[in-house]
Amino acid sequence: MLRIALPNKGRLAEEVTGLFADAGLDLRTRGARALVASLGGEFEAIFVRARDIPEFVADGAADAGVTGLDLVCESGRTLTELLDLEFGACRLVVAAREESGIHSVEDISGAPRVATVFPRLTRRFFETVGREVCLVPVSGAVEIAPHLGIADIIVDLTSTGSTMRVNNLRPVATVLESSARLIAGHGTERAGRDARERGLAELSTALESVLRARGQRYLMANVPRDALDRVKRVLPGLNGPTVIDVLDGGTYVAVHAVVPQRAVFRTIADLRALGGQGILVTRIERLTP
Ligand code: AMP
Repeated sequence: MLRIALPNKGRLAEEVTGLFADAGLDLRTRGARALVASLGGEFEAIFVRARDIPEFVADGAADAGVTGLDLVCESGRTLTELLDLEFGACRLVVAAREESGIHSVEDISGAPRVATVFPRLTRRFFETVGREVCLVPVSGAVEIAPHLGIADIIVDLTSTGSTMRVNNLRPVATVLESSARLIAGHGTERAGRDARERGLAELSTALESVLRARGQRYLMANVPRDALDRVKRVLPGLNGPTVIDVLDGGTYVAVHAVVPQRAVFRTIADLRALGGQGILVTRIERLTP
């Protein structure tokens, strides 16, 4: 049985549940507050705080986990990244009060007090840029620290930037770009090494196939046979479109292809201009090339 540590609440939890369900790994909890759930087959999930997941995986309490890259890096533990899950995208930034006159790290003078829940990454960033700082570790509500006079600047996560703006703060440097990752530790004795490697590779492939499918659509159309060369130019597909005979005496052929979602509008218009009919576009659940 492979144990996967998943966030129990917060920003990443809902996306994780949806992603696992789309991959065919439905979380079968015994109630919303359950700490352990079967994922079906050889996987079980444990629900813990996103911040604790790197430790649990590194210590071998779980074979793999899903959490933010920011938390993986902050933990300082040696972990293997199996997959970038693309959601939970955010930036860890240095931010200063709008009226501070600070627009870049070069504008920071002296040894400012920096409030953060990321002391390790903060220390490393300021060492790299050669600036001395005085860390003010806090456990939340970082944005308020400059207004309370307990810090001069902050290092915190932002995605849309709206919380920073509301709190009259301006990002002046990026410490790290983050998103949710599937991570694994370096072997545990919980499961045989080969079985574990195989199980984690299968999990990673399944999740990756869902992510890949999300940006793609399956398109089907009947097109005039004599327009096929031009159709192939507007419908490249994964390996070129699949062409199927239509039992209409040979005037039309059916073409099937995988099309990027953002190209669907243009492709339909182009196919119609070439005499395409009966155009059908459907979602794809999983896509493994
Ligand atoms: P939680 O504290 O459990 O809600 O999870 C926070 C994690 O969500 C962070 O460590 C990031 O990886 C991710 N995240 C994505 N966008 C943001 C954001 N705007 N603010 C904070 N965390 C974010």
